[in-house]
Amino acid sequence: MGDPWPALPKDGGPKHDPRLPLPRLVDVVAALKHVVGTAVRDAARLVQPAADVIANGVANPPVALAALTTPRTPADAPREISVPYALNARFEELRSDHLAQAQATDQFGKERCITLVRDKATGELVPMHELVGTGKHCEPNLNIDTSRFDLVGSFHSHVNLKQVVPPIDPADPALSFSGGDVVFQSQQKLPVSILQASADKQFMLVRTEASAVLSVEQGAAIKAEYQRQLDHVSGGGRNLQGFEYATRRLAKDMARDHGFALYEGKNGTFTRVEPEVKD
Ligand SMILES: [Zn+2]
Repeated sequence: MGDPWPALPKDGGPKHDPRLPLPRLVDVVAALKHVVGTAVRDAARLVQPAADVIANGVANPPVALAALTTPRTPADAPREISVPYALNARFEELRSDHLAQAQATDQFGKERCITLVRDKATGELVPMHELVGTGKHCEPNLNIDTSRFDLVGSFHSHVNLKQVVPPIDPADPALSFSGGDVVFQSQQKLPVSILQASADKQFMLVRTEASAVLSVEQGAAIKAEYQRQLDHVSGGGRNLQGFEYATRRLAKDMARDHGFALYEGKNGTFTRVEPEVKD
């Protein structure tokens, strides 16, 4: 038994003592936020999909590419990276142009590429030197005014309508980074390489402090081995998962072997796939 309820005062109940300050609105809002936040966290423990939304959408939003710093190792690279909407729209547009050209001409068309820099004054990501390549290759122009810009990386498109074997839709294959792409990024020390591989499939390679800087000889050996493996897949015709799948597997292998983080993306949001995010 505790203390008995105090008797109600005869004047009808307690009134606010004017000598005591009213709670400030900001304090009330903060208290409400705390209550709501706690309730959301509790609910998230019960409902796993909600927990994922909270983890990805609120607590761990994608890192903006403009804000990306060099990860120490591939395992330290962010779980998700995003590029601005307008820039992503341009990636998709360039790849669509590339595909149309390949369908109309020689099944390869000409790769498109862009150099990506960060404006030192504003911190914003800026695309520059948009180029049409010479065929299955587009070398980004890395000449930038380093007093105004930091190099962030490059973008390019892949289309290859010739070597894709069923059951992958040959109209729009999604071929990942080639041996040449990985060697170029390594030797040029490009922080980031973005690839628009099909209408809606994208890849990203992120250089880390642990990334190899390949010698000319090592680079040549990697490109030759890459080609040998792809020839094996497309030549034999026995691998039903085909050329497209092989490029993705080889890109993962190269990322792992040479200390890069590899991402797969869609609509400008990229998720790390090598090393896989475990949580
Ligand atoms: Zn490429």
